[in-house]
Amino acid sequence: MNAEQVKAAIRNVPDFPIKGIQFKDITTALSKPECLRWMRDEIALRYKDLGITQVVGIESRGFILAPAVAIEIGAGFVPIRKHNKLPAETVSITYAKEYGDDTIQIHKDALGPDDIVLIHDDILATGGSMEAAINLVKKLGVKKIYVNCIIELEGLNGRKYLEGKVDNVDCLFGIEVDE
Ligand code: AMP
Repeated sequence: MNAEQVKAAIRNVPDFPIKGIQFKDITTALSKPECLRWMRDEIALRYKDLGITQVVGIESRGFILAPAVAIEIGAGFVPIRKHNKLPAETVSITYAKEYGDDTIQIHKDALGPDDIVLIHDDILATGGSMEAAINLVKKLGVKKIYVNCIIELEGLNGRKYLEGKVDNVDCLFGIEVDE
């Protein structure tokens, strides 16, 4: 199994959720045992020696691989959720999306100054959602932040946008935004 084979297993769904969007559907890769294992192993391999204490997953597609990777590298898992979903005291951030604002939250006691954090999501597009997640995690004063996504949508410059905001940004492979 390699990146090209996993990339080939990702389905493009035109005009979802709205006309003009080429939706990259990872479910067709997740359902293939060898692709699922490769994605988990590949992320774990890249981050296993960095002293990561917590893998933060972004709701909802960041929740699929983040816990699997966390187990593999001996870290914990922390969710970033949409507003009003977490039960205990939270910190929040509101950011502008294409259609109106969105608020995401994390438990206030989930991370602290001793943590080295990997934030994971499925797709890096413009980088706006990931930037909000980074700013949220930064509110908890962690030691280091790494960012990983499965797919980088090429041509949107998301990785460049995030450069300098965290210790490292990395994706398993790129897909052309209109591919
Ligand atoms: P962005 O904030 O522009 O980087 O968008 C990233 C978020 O939107 C991620 O949570 C992705 O899952 C989702 N996303 C953006 N573009 C696409 C796409 N073409 N296909 C599937 N998901 C996408």
